[in-house]
Amino acid sequence: MTKKVAVLTSGGDAPGMNAAIRSVIRCGVRKGWQMFGVQHGYQGLISGNIYEMNTRDVGGIIQRGGTMLGSARCPEFMTVDGRKLAIRNMYQLGIDSLVVIGGNGTQTGSYELHRMGFPVVGIASTIDNDLCGSDITIGVDTALNIALEAIDRLKVTASSHQRAFILEVMGRKCGYLALMSGIAGGAEAITLPEIPTDPEELAQTLQAAYEHGKSHALVVAAEGADYNAAKLTEFFVTNRDRLGFSVRSTILGHVQRGGTPSAYDRNLGSRFGLGAIEALDRGETGVLVGQIASKITTTPLEDIVGKTKALDMELVRLAKLLD
Ligand code: ATP
Repeated sequence: MTKKVAVLTSGGDAPGMNAAIRSVIRCGVRKGWQMFGVQHGYQGLISGNIYEMNTRDVGGIIQRGGTMLGSARCPEFMTVDGRKLAIRNMYQLGIDSLVVIGGNGTQTGSYELHRMGFPVVGIASTIDNDLCGSDITIGVDTALNIALEAIDRLKVTASSHQRAFILEVMGRKCGYLALMSGIAGGAEAITLPEIPTDPEELAQTLQAAYEHGKSHALVVAAEGADYNAAKLTEFFVTNRDRLGFSVRSTILGHVQRGGTPSAYDRNLGSRFGLGAIEALDRGETGVLVGQIASKITTTPLEDIVGKTKALDMELVRLAKLLD
């Protein structure tokens, strides 16, 4: 009997998701399976927005950011009744397995489906890089490069005006994007969710930068840090006279998600797509496809849900040495 497999994207969109969708559909079709796309994530499973897809339906998408299937946050899927409805809709179409592309919350949803007996394979995709079971996730590389371009541009204007700039980057409760863009962009200081910030110490770092003749000072703030852009600006404004320099802040926000996927993210998405199809072919379900030590891997969903990837403290040490 022909295998029937559906694919969806859920949670925050990430550049490279389209490469993963394309790869899942094309690798599945090559196996002779019937492939389906679900629109708007788990919401589409519940409302029955499920369509057959073929090789040509995923043409011309690899270079596009976002997700051609659409994504959504779906509170109804967090209920048993919502998930039962989703499973019923899939069975009605004869769909026997599901590939779920998304981040932490999304893979918790996959795990819940798996626990209800429906065969699922997850693909690690989030710009936050907070998902256990993959060293790097789809979208991180592109988001990092967008943050880096913003840092480079801010440094140019900061140098002209002898100002300190704060750039806030995304990442929820994970400091990976802030840390890596801060190191790559040569930031004077970085605030992170994982490490408490001492604003006095940070101000001294910026002051020292000016005293040592630097023409600019740049802080990369993680959105989930105790001192994000708003809180740091408030501190600097209150202490302006004492600090001796003025501060401007920029919040990068969703600009960070919207880029053209980098070569790295397109290739990662393509490799993860094949990884998911091959896992299903082996009969391996209830797993997350990721990359560990440069190899495409599968990790049981039960080992990754409810966990957040720890920050690499060696990288934190490096950032401090280079400021
Ligand atoms: P990103 O971190 O990149 O934004 P994400 O996948 O972590 O992506 P979330 O908004 O956390 O995004 O989750 C996406 C969807 O996953 C939710 O809207 C919900 O439908 C489903 N989901 C999240 N947590 C659960 C859960 N505990 N049980 C079932 N479904 C869940």
